Amino acid sequence: MHRRHFLQWLGATVVGLSASTSTLPSYAPTADISAPVNATPVPPPALSPPSNPTLPPVPTAVAAQAVTADSQRDKTTSAVICLPIVVAQAVTAAFQRVIVIGAGMAGLAAAQRLSQRGIKPLVLEARDRIGGRLWTSNKWPDAPMDLGASWIHGVDGNPIMTLAQTVGAKMATTYYESTIGYGSQGQVLSDAQEAQIERLDKAITQALKAAQKRDDDQSIQTVIEKALNWAKLSLEEQQLVSFILNGKFEQEYAGSIGELSAHWYDDDAAFKGDDALFLAGYGAIAGYLAQGLDIKTNSPVRQIEWKTAKDRVSVTTDSATYVAEKVLVTLPLGVLKRSAVMFKPALPAQKQKAIEALKMGVLNKCYLRFPKVFWQAKYDWMEYVAPNAGEWVEWVSFARPTGLPILLGFNAANIGQSIEALSDEKIVASAMQTLRTIFGRNTPDPIDYQITRWSSDPFAGGSYSFNPVGAVPEMRDHLAKSLDDVLYFAGEAASRQYFGTVHGAYLSGVKAADEILKTA
Ligand SMILES: Cc1cc2nc3c(=O)[nH]c(=O)nc-3n(C[C@H](O)[C@H](O)[C@H](O)COP(=O)(O)OP(=O)(O)OC[C@H]3O[C@@H](n4cnc5c(N)ncnc54)[C@H](O)[C@@H]3O)c2cc1C
Repeated sequence: MHRRHFLQWLGATVVGLSASTSTLPSYAPTADISAPVNATPVPPPALSPPSNPTLPPVPTAVAAQAVTADSQRDKTTSAVICLPIVVAQAVTAAFQRVIVIGAGMAGLAAAQRLSQRGIKPLVLEARDRIGGRLWTSNKWPDAPMDLGASWIHGVDGNPIMTLAQTVGAKMATTYYESTIGYGSQGQVLSDAQEAQIERLDKAITQALKAAQKRDDDQSIQTVIEKALNWAKLSLEEQQLVSFILNGKFEQEYAGSIGELSAHWYDDDAAFKGDDALFLAGYGAIAGYLAQGLDIKTNSPVRQIEWKTAKDRVSVTTDSATYVAEKVLVTLPLGVLKRSAVMFKPALPAQKQKAIEALKMGVLNKCYLRFPKVFWQAKYDWMEYVAPNAGEWVEWVSFARPTGLPILLGFNAANIGQSIEALSDEKIVASAMQTLRTIFGRNTPDPIDYQITRWSSDPFAGGSYSFNPVGAVPEMRDHLAKSLDDVLYFAGEAASRQYFGTVHGAYLSGVKAADEILKTA
């Protein structure tokens, strides 16, 4: 999530230019999680343990410090998904008290919490690595790049910030005020264009506020097209409106404006403060939380039987069937939606409805590494009014925070999904076409690149969840609801307040662990 305050850069002075990097207090070297985590038990990663070897307690006041964006509104919808799944023959493994499915942020937070309170869970992870949508690439040894989440959004009171300080992660703040905007022909936006963008942005905000007061829900696109009389707008105005809608809604919530609910898209909360980037990678947090845990990687779960005799849950992977007292499911919404794991019996209708109605959005990254910096390194963000709505609109420069000639281009929602289907070469060529429009024909080719395809990732099924038309915020509570004191649920999509974020996943994992502890 960008979690940005779009357009706050207009007319602002560039900030943060004097300090090359803002570094948080350093307590210990950053954890090295480049080594894959193998089966039982996981050796602690190469991390100097903090003086207190237990994890810091989760700040209980965090929820209170958050700013609630919107209040209760009410609507529902219905649908059921069910696909046949073939479950392979598997040997029965030793009995476990608790099994956690998924070693992403939610699963690791829950497992570590349980472990510290005396229950050592078994964590089953489908991938050959931990972290899930936290994924630091070490392809460029001097520049670890995050292919999943990058920022702590709002550092004040954010529990992820506490963890970052505990592991001594080196951080840099990026500033939205430090943005330069370019028009469709590549020219720097004029004062008149900026003023026009501000006017249109105000009209969009007003139209959505009015739409939130009406009974029927509509997509952001429907609301704005009507309110701004789309067909009557000039081509230039249409491009500017698309630019605002992409930057403000699609890049942030990852859903398309044609699907995002005008009523509920922003029914979440946020921590205050700056957005901080991990200079050595977000993976340090996953590595830290994984310390001492029993994690089996390469173990995709195929079936969960949760109403067996004696209140036991049986969990089947390709190679084994595990039996446990309690199971915590942290499967991403995209995996639940594809029915990639069979629940026996099927999940209750309310939970199935939530899985069907909530949606997974797409936000993809394309890192381009150049021989040298050719752009204005003093800006953290570059924005482009794309002639093709949403294409290569948002860019982050790593020149100031890292001193390296690296640009990161984002594509979200429908355009993110269609670009993801292209070959690497075509994606890089398309990115370069935009950069050459802005910086001229002599812009050098990149020396290397890194590209993500979260939508087609079988163990994610998208980047993060959003509230589309037809879904209501209560559905996230339904997703999080435990069943019969044996089956528990966590993950970013199950966080009503903080969906789509790392801290949302973390807090939902901690909450589920506490629920398990109450009934264990
Ligand atoms: C490109 C991108 C940018 C983002 N940027 C930010 C950001 O800057 N800041 C922010 O706060 N958030 C950001 N997010 C969102 C954030 O990364 C997620 O909300 C969070 O990491 C989700 O954690 P989770 O534990 O809920 O899910 P996951 O991390 O997906 O964990 C679920 C785990 O379950 C595993 N799994 C899947 N299927 C199976 C199976 N059958 N059996 C066993 N295991 C299975 C997966 O492999 C995974 O490890 C971003 C996400 C993306 C993709």
